[in-house]
Amino acid sequence: MTLISVAQVAYLIAAVMFILSLAGLSKQETARRGNLLGMAGMALAIVATIALALEGSERPVGVTAALIVGVLLIGSLVGTWRARSVEMTQMPELIAILHSFVGAAAVLIGFNSYLTEGHDAMHLIEVFLGVFIGAVTFSGSIVAYLKLAARMKSAPLMLPGRHLLNLAGLVASVALGAWFIAAPSVWPLAIMTVIALAIGVHLVAAIGGGDMPVVVSMLNSYSGWAAAAAGFMLSNNLLIVVGALVGSSGAILSYIMCKAMNRQFISVILGGFGAEGGTTPGGSGAGAVEGTHTEVDVAETVELLSEARSVVIAPGYGMAVAKAQYPVAELVNRLRSRGVEVRFAVHPVAGRLPGHMNVLLAEARVPYDIVLELDEINDDFPDTDVVLVIGANDTVNPAALDDPSSPIAGMPVLEVWNARHVVVFKRSMATGYAGVQNPLFFRENTAMLFGDAKTQVEAIVAAMPAVETVDA
Ligand code: NDP
Repeated sequence: MTLISVAQVAYLIAAVMFILSLAGLSKQETARRGNLLGMAGMALAIVATIALALEGSERPVGVTAALIVGVLLIGSLVGTWRARSVEMTQMPELIAILHSFVGAAAVLIGFNSYLTEGHDAMHLIEVFLGVFIGAVTFSGSIVAYLKLAARMKSAPLMLPGRHLLNLAGLVASVALGAWFIAAPSVWPLAIMTVIALAIGVHLVAAIGGGDMPVVVSMLNSYSGWAAAAAGFMLSNNLLIVVGALVGSSGAILSYIMCKAMNRQFISVILGGFGAEGGTTPGGSGAGAVEGTHTEVDVAETVELLSEARSVVIAPGYGMAVAKAQYPVAELVNRLRSRGVEVRFAVHPVAGRLPGHMNVLLAEARVPYDIVLELDEINDDFPDTDVVLVIGANDTVNPAALDDPSSPIAGMPVLEVWNARHVVVFKRSMATGYAGVQNPLFFRENTAMLFGDAKTQVEAIVAAMPAVETVDA
């Protein structure tokens, strides 16, 4: 057996491991195994690729080996340092920037492949498509990173005639593609790269804050297609398989997120939402919400809880920021030990990553069976005594249902206001990620518990045994 066929077998095994890894990741109980399989598959793929690179090396093998070890070392050092230092709340930004690396790699591989290999039509199409997808992914992911890291406003950028601009970019790219194939030269490729970079920036900049979940999953999908395109250019079967897996799973996730938000995928990627409402941070589409809110303190919240028989906790991005999941889990234990029914209501786009809340709650060892999805729990709010909204905002905003001009209009939300009492844990009256004010805060049965969510939940937990003794 030649080294090449051994490597191809290794690639096949790695591809199967990646598929099993995805299957494992689909359930919390098997997610750890899924991750391990993915890591093992990647290790196998890297070893096989290095072996192939050394075998086919045109330079002295020692030089190629040194180059590979050099880049692996730099990459692993930077990767390990970032992975260790990144906060859970920065994960979405990290993922966005990692997508941009895949895009950049596809662009570089495309240029390299064009400059160093033959110019038959099939290869030219691969190069052109690969560079186009790579460039859109690269610049789009950088804008997504800037938005998620709050270094750029989350409100949509609304250029006049923006759809026409995108269309013009696309038509120009097709024309450049025809030129590139008819008379191969680096010029049409380079001009198309600049246009594709601009399309990527514009596409993502035009998407409003509330629709960002779809952008994250969509860029995830694009990065997969960019990797698959790179696989074609490099004639690397594993890269094609992995790229297609990432591309299609990202597309499925985008579809799921769109359904969860009641959005049309095409409208989201064309930045059609948030536009009509004229999103301005601090005001809903129909103008700022006004009214008076009621405040409660820790003692009053403890009193409410001690009288409750059923409690639902609606966590959101603020729980992640405050790292409040641990005291929240402790609060759940205390309440359950007193016979109170406690459940979690998890909105599909709560937090800043698909599955963000599930990860945090699993980390704090909250039992899976009390963590319910939006459609599993929404009908139960009328029979709930107390809802604790912990750092959630957009996902519990009634304007999504009541105000057709709101940028989040039509998005299903957790209808917490149907419960007897709602306590909202947040630090101020500030808006959530979509930049719209929340009429929930002004409802009669809602009370605000201001302060850092972790500090406040810890204070409630500390006060709980005292209540029990008083009751006894
Ligand atoms: P939001 O982002 O709407 O609101 C979070 C709230 O948490 C804020 O209003 C903030 O208020 C509060 N908060 C922040 N820090 C703290 C703290 N330390 N203690 C207490 N409260 C705190 O959260 P949701 O989870 O409800 O909604 C998610 C939003 O993010 C949606 O608009 C969604 O579309 C978007 N998004 C989701 C992604 C996903 O994949 N899940 C990806 C990208 C965007 P204050 O400052 O007053 O404390």
